[in-house]
Amino acid sequence: MTAPVTIESIRLRQVNLPPKVVRTDAIQSFVTQETLLLTLRCSDGVEGTGYAYTIGTGGSSVMALLHDHLAPRLLGRNPLHVEAIWKDLFFHTHATAVGAITSLALACVDTALWDWRARRQDLPLWQLLGGAQSRVPVYTTEGGWLHLGADELVAQTLAAQAQGFRGAKIKVGRPHVSEDVARLSAVREAVGPGFDIMVDANQGFNRPEALRRAAAFAGLDLAWLEEPMAAEDVSGHRQLRGQTAIPVAVGESMYHLSQFREYLERGACSIVQPDVARIGGITPWIKVAHLAEGFGVPVCPHFLMELHVSLCAAVPNAAWVEYIPQLDDITTSRIRVEGGYAWPPETPGLGIAWDWPVIEKRQLVDTTLNQ
Ligand code: MG
Repeated sequence: MTAPVTIESIRLRQVNLPPKVVRTDAIQSFVTQETLLLTLRCSDGVEGTGYAYTIGTGGSSVMALLHDHLAPRLLGRNPLHVEAIWKDLFFHTHATAVGAITSLALACVDTALWDWRARRQDLPLWQLLGGAQSRVPVYTTEGGWLHLGADELVAQTLAAQAQGFRGAKIKVGRPHVSEDVARLSAVREAVGPGFDIMVDANQGFNRPEALRRAAAFAGLDLAWLEEPMAAEDVSGHRQLRGQTAIPVAVGESMYHLSQFREYLERGACSIVQPDVARIGGITPWIKVAHLAEGFGVPVCPHFLMELHVSLCAAVPNAAWVEYIPQLDDITTSRIRVEGGYAWPPETPGLGIAWDWPVIEKRQLVDTTLNQ
């Protein structure tokens, strides 16, 4: 019998990336993408690289949690034991979980383990995880930010339509409901009926305002209303869903499978949007997707298209990939986007070709732990 494979070293790196365009919404702006990279080298000589991100704060805390508490527990483990490792690390950080910092750190580990596993099996991730669809519809968010005026929104959405995108997301949450309606009506009029418009409030409304805005948006044929209220307010979402025909989407601010279960059990959402970094990696992301399938609910993940395109292609109920390119500066691979669809990479592993010489030049952190 051959000796089991073990994790021999872990390298942690951080690269900060400026946003490609100015990105603003109802509650925040995207300052910088703190990109947190974890590379594990195993005794079989195969490496796996995973990553997570923030939009400007907390990156150093994630790196410290990984360096001081999680990475030392990974060394010597069998990388095939993905579920056991996830559970062990989660319980090891019990008093700081569920929480964003812990979930992002777990995502770095978990996505690296899946990269290693897929490389070892010489399979692209989307096939290893299920191989449900060879391409996924794609919509863009890059032309719909909240600071843009109606003319600019119309111009950018028409440009996206001309490029072949099948839908576009427009941020809502201007001070008065009439401003949101004016912006959305201008876009709908310009693009016509055959193009999907998603809207996103980024948790900007309280309950009465969410009900009011949803009522005012009726007739615009919106594909969904995303994060209308605080993510914690499951009852509020359930109430809204009972009063509007617009599909209600939630998920980018949820950090554990159980939060999705509660929304689904209570019929409080129409679409789930797990973010593979914020949910703690591929292992819990796939569970959310399959759970949602059982409820007849589509999955339309948040951001991170470079990884989500493979996860969407893996499961049958993924409906859309969100187009926000962000890794171009530090990768050499590009997703094929054509005719309104995105194709998952066919290369083994996550399918992300990191540009290591560039990363080396730009990295703020580079530290290695050995067994
Ligand atoms: Mg959103």
